[in-house]
Amino acid sequence: MNRRDFFGASAALTLGAAVAPTSSAFATQTTEETDKRAEAKLRICSQLGPAPGNSLEEKLEKAKKYGCDAIEYGGECIGKGAELRKKAEDAGLEVSVICWGSHGGDLCSEDVSKRQPGIDDLKRALETAGELHANGVIYVPAFNGQTKLTNQEIRQLLMEFMPDLAKFARDCNTNIILEPLCRMEAYFLRQVADGASIARDVLRAAGIDSGIGVMGDFYHMDTEETSQMGAFISAGSLLKHVHLAGGVEQPRRTFPGENSMTFVDGFRGLKYIGYNKFMSFECGCAGRDKEEAFKNSIQFLRDQWAEA
Ligand code: MG
Repeated sequence: MNRRDFFGASAALTLGAAVAPTSSAFATQTTEETDKRAEAKLRICSQLGPAPGNSLEEKLEKAKKYGCDAIEYGGECIGKGAELRKKAEDAGLEVSVICWGSHGGDLCSEDVSKRQPGIDDLKRALETAGELHANGVIYVPAFNGQTKLTNQEIRQLLMEFMPDLAKFARDCNTNIILEPLCRMEAYFLRQVADGASIARDVLRAAGIDSGIGVMGDFYHMDTEETSQMGAFISAGSLLKHVHLAGGVEQPRRTFPGENSMTFVDGFRGLKYIGYNKFMSFECGCAGRDKEEAFKNSIQFLRDQWAEA
């Protein structure tokens, strides 16, 4: 057999092998099994910054009044889980997640001495998330300039310490939630599917089925994803949270509806995977009246969800 015959025979074999199992896989996977639209729900939440009001109590009250189901706390809530859960409950709200960040990139620092204190602080955040009954702690491995490690080295390092941390999170009834960012903020971890694959690998290594997942932030996704619908579908059940903000067009990263970005494509993906966890405002306000902008944005999102 010469080289041309060999490749001809291989191609025929490959085609045969590819066609038969693929078509039978499609035959066994019904639309009913993969399409979870009936489970999907729009459940809006807000960080404290975008919520109108001058005090914590006022922000919680107005978030509830205009239609939010939950509040997202920042790192200031660590160690105050019981107290802040009660405040949210008193206002009729759940707590979605804690937005924690990168801890200065310490967990993925080239300076080994910085890593353990970062891991210990993330554990404290996970314990507080458990007390808040929150679905997770948002974690960014490193913003630009916070580590000298390469992308390959960071991914390898995550696989060393994340399996134990994911088990710790699961034991606290919560999750580590990886947040992909746009290239202006981070070069490591920019796409939802990449975060989902890290979460999947960590779960496999730890031998568990919960404790880590990924989120999507519409602002970052506007730069990094070619399809918002495709990005959410690629995460599937590993998607634990969503951040709401308009994209890069002016006025940049403001309340959804304040610039021309549409959310319909992304919402179609969220509906398809049966997403019913929270979506939280993390954005600025272009208008002069934040209360009016907040209210209008919630109505805009409801209209976009209905259209999706
Ligand atoms: Mg975000």
